[in-house]
Formats: sequence, C-alpha cells, structure tokens
Amino acid sequence: MTKPYDLRSLYPEEVKEILKEKGLEAWRTDQIFSWLEKGVRSFEEMTNLSKKLREELDELFFISNMTDADRLISKIDGTEKYLFTLPDGEYVESVLLSYKHGYSVCLSTQAGCKMGCSFCASTKAGFTRDLSAGEILLQMVEITRIKRQDDPAFRIGHLVLMGIGEPLDNYDNVIRFLRLCNRKELFGISFRNMSLSTCGIIPRIRDLMQEDIPLTLSISLHASNSALRSKLMPVNRRYPLKELLAVCKEYTRVTGRRISFEYALIAGVNDTPKEARELIGLLSGFMNHLNLIPVNPTKETSFTPGTRRAVEAFAQSLQRGGLNATVRRTLGQDIEAACGQLRREKKH
Ligand code: SF4
Repeated sequence: MTKPYDLRSLYPEEVKEILKEKGLEAWRTDQIFSWLEKGVRSFEEMTNLSKKLREELDELFFISNMTDADRLISKIDGTEKYLFTLPDGEYVESVLLSYKHGYSVCLSTQAGCKMGCSFCASTKAGFTRDLSAGEILLQMVEITRIKRQDDPAFRIGHLVLMGIGEPLDNYDNVIRFLRLCNRKELFGISFRNMSLSTCGIIPRIRDLMQEDIPLTLSISLHASNSALRSKLMPVNRRYPLKELLAVCKEYTRVTGRRISFEYALIAGVNDTPKEARELIGLLSGFMNHLNLIPVNPTKETSFTPGTRRAVEAFAQSLQRGGLNATVRRTLGQDIEAACGQLRREKKH
C-alpha cells in the first residue's frame, strides 16, 4: 500500500492533526521533527518513540530519502558540491558555500529545467519533474547530516534557491519549503537569510508579493534589451523585459524589499559599452543591486567570460553611471560549480 503522507513535506501542525485524527500520540510531534532535523532516514531510528508508535507512523507516512551522494570539494576555496540521487533515479545538485558570516547552501528546486536559457547547463539535460517541498528540504538535511559527522556544531545560516530548476515554476512546493525551513522545529532560518532567483515568471512574482515572506528576490536579467534577452532567455518572449521591470518596481513598493539583479557576463555578447549604457538606462532609479557574474563556460556553448580587465571595466562603467554593481566572486571553479553540469554528465 502506498503511504499517503510525505512526512518531510508537512508542517508540524499538519502532522499533529493527522496523529490526532488517527488517535495516536500527537504530543510526540516535536520529537518526530527533531529526529527529522537530525537527518534520520526511517522511523526505526527515532529511538525515543515506542516500537508500537514507530510501526503506526510507518504505516501512515513515508520519509523521502536520497540514496547516495557524490561530493566534490574545491581545493581553491572549500566550496562543496553534492550530487544526490533520488529513489526514482533523478539527480539533484546542491552547493555548500562557506562565508565569513557562516554557511550558505544553494539548492535545486526541480529535476532539470524547462526554461531553456542558452548559457545554462541545467536545462540541457531536459526537465523531468518538480521536487516536492520535502525533497528540497532534504538537500539541507543531508548536507547537515554529512557535515555533522566531522563538526557537530555545523549549521546552515543562509539559503539561496539558485540551483537546478526555476523556483517559481514549482511555486507551491517552493513556498511550502521556505516556510518549513523557517520553522523553529526544523532549521529556523530567517526569511531575510533566504534568496530566490527567478528568470522572471511575472504572475508568480505577483503571487510571491502577497505571501508575506520577506526574502531577497533576485532577477536573472542577463541582457540589457528585450531582443537580446529573448535570444538568451526564451522566457522573455512570454514575459518581456519591460513588463518584468514594471513588476519588480511593484514588488519593491508592496514588500519594501530591495531587488537584486543577476547578470552573467558573456564576452562579446552582452558586455560591450552599448550594453553598459542600456543597463544604466534600464536600472537607474531602482532600489537594487546588480551582481555581475562572469559566465561559466560549459561544454555545450561557445560562451566565454571576458578577461578580468574587461569585466572590471564593465563594472566600473556601470558604477560611474550610478548603478550599485559589483562583480561576484566565482566559487568552486575547479569542481564545476555551475549548476546542472554534474547532473548532465550523469544523465549521459
Ligand atoms: S538559468 Fe535558471 S531558469 Fe534558466 S535554464 Fe538555467 S536553471 Fe532554468
């Protein structure tokens, strides 16, 4: 019999309610969640619950798990990349980054991506399915479990949804995930320490403004005009640049939160003085930050990042034009930390 509930995707009050309905010990919910946060893979491991209750729980719920992980550690900066395998054979990539202010994870929200951005490896191996809220959370649970083997005080303080997949294309599961890891029973991460990066699905950005989740919204811009953006990012044909920027202004007005823009610098494609001028025109007057990211070369495209000098010159011309633009340090270059590259290799 298939078990009806995925325990990792449920809020504590939902679990409590189900237990109550079934006449089981609902007051045990906090204990169950503290085991989940510790990374247990089965009810069998919840040793402070009676054997009878563990068997009853096992009939009601399943606990989603990942079977193994490839783990690559950068020799340059300590960035760690994980490739997890889900029971249906799907692969999920996550990255652990270490900063002065603590650990941050970059998580995947879908197995593959439908969006087709031309510079991105995640989309090349195709889209298979959405991840459940529990499967997104599980990436943090597994990383924590693995790291605590060496460092019992290990703790994730920040998270970024910028791995494989378009988070707003898996809206309900992503919102549930964000609320779950904000809960004190799980990771207790403040919404202000979460960022979500989107290619610009306008109706879902509007939905997000109504959620009362004060995270940092990041827009993958990558072009300074609509024609170029449509070439690089097919989503722009459906949700054009002008409308996207209008909804960004609305987002800031409604939520009071600053938007951050991401711009992958591709030599000779979007990094000339013309694009710098256009960007200044587009983004002036926004309460924003512009992250310039030298593009990660992938085997599938001929895109390359400009030289360090060209990147700096582009950043300076934006700063002179009044934009708050900085070049993002690329981490984990020796372990292919660009999202989707490991999954794609496994799929072939
Ligand atoms: S950049 Fe993001 S939205 Fe675009 S294909 Fe890659 S994962 Fe999907």
